[in-house]
Amino acid sequence: MLKTVFLDRDGIINENIGMHRYVENWEQFRILPGVEDSIKKLNEAGYQIIVVTNQSGIARGILSKECVDDLHRRLRTHIEQSGGKIDAIYMCPHKEGECNCRKPQIGLFLQAERDFIIDKKRSWMVGDSETDVEAGESYGVRTILTKSLPAAVERILED
Ligand SMILES: [Mg+2]
Ligand SMILES: [Zn+2]
Repeated sequence: MLKTVFLDRDGIINENIGMHRYVENWEQFRILPGVEDSIKKLNEAGYQIIVVTNQSGIARGILSKECVDDLHRRLRTHIEQSGGKIDAIYMCPHKEGECNCRKPQIGLFLQAERDFIIDKKRSWMVGDSETDVEAGESYGVRTILTKSLPAAVERILED
């Protein structure tokens, strides 16, 4: 059983580029300050890191799944090169009302449970939207609503 930090992607790991706009490639993917170090600190404290992200641009035909997968490969490599590790990324490609994985639903967390053993009582969800908090609460982990991963990490490490 491993303690886990679930992270939202847009607005936590990388800059949001605006409502109804989607990060399409690595050049547009601006990692927020302190993210690499924050992930490394969580790893060192024994947390596994699982990203859960809504990417409805795929269902809308604005983004291709290949392009998002490529971004996620590059992100994981970048974090590894910085000395940290993202254990997995689960993504909802659907539009609202089409699935059970789009946050605030908990399908992405349940997908993660198939691949990882998660100690919910010692786990957290960090996001910048109410829907992230709602999803984390429904799933049964503690939640932090923030725009700053370093600030969230400080709180988690006090635990
Ligand atoms: Mg977000
Ligand atoms: Zn979905």
